[in-house]
Amino acid sequence: MKLVKHIANLGYGSRKQVQQLFREGRITDAQGEVLYADDKVEHDNIRIDDEVLDPPPGLILMLHKPAGYTCSTKDHGRLIYELLPERFRDRDPVLSSVGRLDRDTSGMLLMTDDGQLLHRIVSPKSKLDKVYEAQLAQDLSGSEAAQFASGTLLLESDDKPLLPAELEVLGPRAARLTLHEGRYHQVRRMFAAVGNHVQALHRSRIGGLGLDDLAEGQWRQLDAADLAVLF
Ligand code: URA
Repeated sequence: MKLVKHIANLGYGSRKQVQQLFREGRITDAQGEVLYADDKVEHDNIRIDDEVLDPPPGLILMLHKPAGYTCSTKDHGRLIYELLPERFRDRDPVLSSVGRLDRDTSGMLLMTDDGQLLHRIVSPKSKLDKVYEAQLAQDLSGSEAAQFASGTLLLESDDKPLLPAELEVLGPRAARLTLHEGRYHQVRRMFAAVGNHVQALHRSRIGGLGLDDLAEGQWRQLDAADLAVLF
């Protein structure tokens, strides 16, 4: 692919804007040699104003989403893209979230521009556990763990019962829930089905990957070793 297209696809501007960067001699190789729009050069050997380029396509990252941000490219209010470098919103292929977290849910969100990887992560066949911590409006009754583990709980407007899920009691109004599927508003609907209400929800883990010390609002790029831990 020609350099101008590659760089425009990374969100550095329209092709016209990137052409202008070439004309100004701001795009060079690692040795400072000026590059041209039609050149074909390895991604890692390209600099703009002496800065290395953003990661090439095949990007996967982990974001610690704060509550109050929406997993969408356009919506009213704050969007997860505001937590990333501005260019990341304009990449082609598009960088999108792997599944969604509700606006009011915090925690681990994966994002990728790799469609195959996205499908692999969300596919039920991958059987990636998702772990949530929920703060509840009312005391747990003690029967939730058995109900969630039964494999017979049917949520309103679903036609199939939920897969068994594991509940660990963390306090009178706090629980950790491990799910093996991902349905719309699943955790909130599960607690509603047993007469409770989720006041705060946080996802701490997907597959083998935890948020570790990634602070709220921060993100990091995942590498092959992370993916090996994820699956
Ligand atoms: N379940 C929910 O109810 N909300 C989320 O954001 C994720 C899982």
